[in-house]
Amino acid sequence: VVDKRKRVLILMTDTGGGHRASAEALKATFELEFGDEYEVTITDLWTDHTPWPFNQLPRSYSFLVKHNTLWKATFHGTAPRFIHQPHFAFTSVFIARKVMRGLLKHRPDVIVSVHPLMQHVPIRLLKARGLLRKIPFTTVVTDLSTGHPTWFHRLVTRCYCPAKEVADRALRAGLKPSQIRVFGLPIRPSFCRAVRPKTELRGELGMDDDLPAVLLMGGGEGMGPVEATAKALGKSLYDEQTGKVKGQLVVICGRNKKLIKRLQSAEWSIPVLIKGFQTNMEKWMGACDCIITKAGPGTIAEAMIRGLPLLLNDYIAGQEVGNVPYVVNNGAGKFCKDPKQIAKIIADWFGPKAEELQEMSGNALKLARPDAVFKIVHDLDELVRQKESVAHPAFAFS
Ligand code: UDP
Repeated sequence: VVDKRKRVLILMTDTGGGHRASAEALKATFELEFGDEYEVTITDLWTDHTPWPFNQLPRSYSFLVKHNTLWKATFHGTAPRFIHQPHFAFTSVFIARKVMRGLLKHRPDVIVSVHPLMQHVPIRLLKARGLLRKIPFTTVVTDLSTGHPTWFHRLVTRCYCPAKEVADRALRAGLKPSQIRVFGLPIRPSFCRAVRPKTELRGELGMDDDLPAVLLMGGGEGMGPVEATAKALGKSLYDEQTGKVKGQLVVICGRNKKLIKRLQSAEWSIPVLIKGFQTNMEKWMGACDCIITKAGPGTIAEAMIRGLPLLLNDYIAGQEVGNVPYVVNNGAGKFCKDPKQIAKIIADWFGPKAEELQEMSGNALKLARPDAVFKIVHDLDELVRQKESVAHPAFAFS
């Protein structure tokens, strides 16, 4: 039986910053739109296909991110061209064959990179084999505004940018307008369906029907000052004198098991739900009135689709810095690092400053791009079709 399915290979590495979320969103949308016509594979080129020490990249990332200054040095240290070019050249000599095998094993019709370090080596290797003309290489930038220079490579067929600011950077990096598309950040298709009424969602999720609700999270790993903020909210949303409760709290800790345990052992005077990794974020966001989170691009884009004002309390140095002004300057939220002040802002939003909350919700909705993932997937399909119409039928991978 000849397998006629077309193949998409998504390159990512699990280093936070929404790479995994975007890769999964693309895969789910291909399934939804094209069913069996496409087979989508997500691969971690470093961990799956390179020898030590290169396969340690994701792991050293977790270490570095937890040690902020080290990560900053790494991020900025690799940024200038004169440093990262030789670095990539060096890397490619050692790992070329393994990476090439990883790339071609899946016989892709199109390659999509969702990671800033997945452009240079693969493109160089494909070019050397004359394969770049046969397999379109595309990049989906998962950074809402800053754009680390390694995101942009002039030899890509497409560079999908989540916002105009990023497209401007791509142009400055030497890409042509014809290579760039600005559709928005790809978000799981479940976020694009109609929002169910808040009361219905709250009932299903075990929340209080009436109290205003704040959602507190720290990306997929539950990073940032989540615990201190939860405790401060426990105080600011409770009036000790009257015993009146002003709001409810949902904490989603992602994969951070220690955080769940610590929060579960605390005592609360307001209704609090503490959860581990959730697969129905669109429901939690639809059931709440605002969100406190680190400046992860995935979470921000999702919150905007749901019209949730954002209180950003942290960011990963380098890759998430630019997401903060993107939210604040567009009037969709605020930035504050201090848990006590954060708790006060939320109490005000649920009280005297309800209007501000309303206004920010409207601004968030204006920035939302729920159809981005569909546009990207259809554009990728178009690239595959164009390629098929010119491809030599006898073409085979070597
Ligand atoms: N997420 C999720 N369940 C959880 C926690 C997080 O599905 O319990 C999702 C979240 O909705 C977002 C992604 O994980 O799509 C996190 O991406 P982001 O860019 O915000 O941060 P990262 O964790 O990648 O640094």
